[in-house]
Amino acid sequence: MTKFAAESAMSPELLAKYEPVIGLEVHVQLLTKTKIFCGCSTRFGDPPNSNVCPVCLGLPGTLPVLNKRAVEMAMRAALAINCTVHEHSRFARKNYFYPDLPKGYQISQYELPLATGGWLEIEVQGEKKRVGITRLHLEEDAGKSLHDGFPHSDEKTYVDFNRCGTPLSEIVSEPDLRTPDEAYAYLTTLRQILLYTGVSDVNMEEGSLRCDANVSIRRRGAEEFGTKVEVKNLNSFRYLAKALEYEIERHVAIIESGGRISQETRLWNQAANRTDSMRSKEKAHDYRYFPEPDLLPIHVSPAWSDEVLRSLPELPGAKRVRFVSVYAITPYDAEVLTGSEELADYFESVVKAGAPGKATANWMQTELLRRLNDSGKEITASPVKPTALGELVVLVDSGKITGAVGKKVFAAMFETGHSAAEIVAAEGLGTQVADDVIEKAAREVIEKNPDNVAKFKSGNEGVFKFFVGQVMKATKGQANPQAVNDIVRRLLS
Ligand code: ADP
Ligand code: MG
Ligand code: ZN
Repeated sequence: MTKFAAESAMSPELLAKYEPVIGLEVHVQLLTKTKIFCGCSTRFGDPPNSNVCPVCLGLPGTLPVLNKRAVEMAMRAALAINCTVHEHSRFARKNYFYPDLPKGYQISQYELPLATGGWLEIEVQGEKKRVGITRLHLEEDAGKSLHDGFPHSDEKTYVDFNRCGTPLSEIVSEPDLRTPDEAYAYLTTLRQILLYTGVSDVNMEEGSLRCDANVSIRRRGAEEFGTKVEVKNLNSFRYLAKALEYEIERHVAIIESGGRISQETRLWNQAANRTDSMRSKEKAHDYRYFPEPDLLPIHVSPAWSDEVLRSLPELPGAKRVRFVSVYAITPYDAEVLTGSEELADYFESVVKAGAPGKATANWMQTELLRRLNDSGKEITASPVKPTALGELVVLVDSGKITGAVGKKVFAAMFETGHSAAEIVAAEGLGTQVADDVIEKAAREVIEKNPDNVAKFKSGNEGVFKFFVGQVMKATKGQANPQAVNDIVRRLLS
């Protein structure tokens, strides 16, 4: 897993003394066409208040109707992170006042959530770790307040209710994370699983993946957790890591100077690079949760649960293990190539076209991904299709063209969409350097380097590479390397 930043500025002595404890609450927007309790569209970016109806506006006398697809999406997520989906769960009202919450309560789940008791595996610097998942529940999103002119005197606030009633799952982790790196790895791992399962488009900019971080510190070796602070407004992976580092340092400083941490909610302030206190932490009883009387409990039959489980794709972790064992690529290769399902499928299609796994992994990670990246294209829009790359890898691997020529051919394939064979034929790039031409070049190299010949004869096998390199150079990198090897060895012995 990639590291997000340099180590924090915190002194190693203090880090040796205190242990951070972190738990994440992740809200993910479920990929449904319509809202969770009405038929309004969930499309992002529509004009404000164009996707609303009496139900999601919370008008009196309306009744919510549960969207089955939202339950199914939440079940997919829950099963993919190893949770138990309960046969019976129910909705609850979470009461609070806010201008973007027209009903005055949010329909959520409380004492009987959809799913509990899962885990997911993260990897940080080669170390694997299981992180517990406390629960996954269903809830509706609130609207959005748009502040105009803030913080000046002409400020106005508008409310857009389009997002009201968008289906969400909240996924709560156990306080099992110990470093900002682990928190980062947890969020990226979870995000990848949600993408693979098609549960969400997990777009942090559009708010379809949101994360709140809970953090505390304790003396190393202590059993009890310290007082936690919740940090909100973390709308990028980088902010999560930065906010955690900031909070950990803040906690250590307070405790070292004899102070106490107050339980509160803080906001990440990106402009100032710090967290600001928002409010003292509300308690569950402040919300006056009670069972939602307008909705029936959710009943999930074991048969439905099984069906959803069977419909899950191979998940990224399992795919990585299989790629390493079946295709003999490195764990690092496998991590890159399973970055998305589309990339993994591409890789397997190239191999199916006859190319060896390791060579394919190399070609994809160097030439293909670099060029896609440079041209801002997704793998699905690659001008070089998997079978075409497969052909090229086979040409190079069998010595029909050299690696250097292969790279040129690949560039032309990417430009023109033509096949490797077409380009090789049209440009005369095949390894057509005749054996007698290679032999002539080899004789010249040997003649010019009597010292190295003597070294080779006295058993220095290392200089053999020198001769091959020189002959390749003399034939402009277009000779078949195997032929060069054979000829040089014959002439030297
Ligand atoms: P609350 O009722 O305040 O929301 P929860 O018990 O629901 O608290 O936990 C919310 C999140 O905080 C969970 O992800 C949990 O893992 C994490 N958490 C709980 N206690 C601590 C702690 N002492 N330090 C850090 N994180 C914690
Ligand atoms: Mg909570
Ligand atoms: Zn509606």
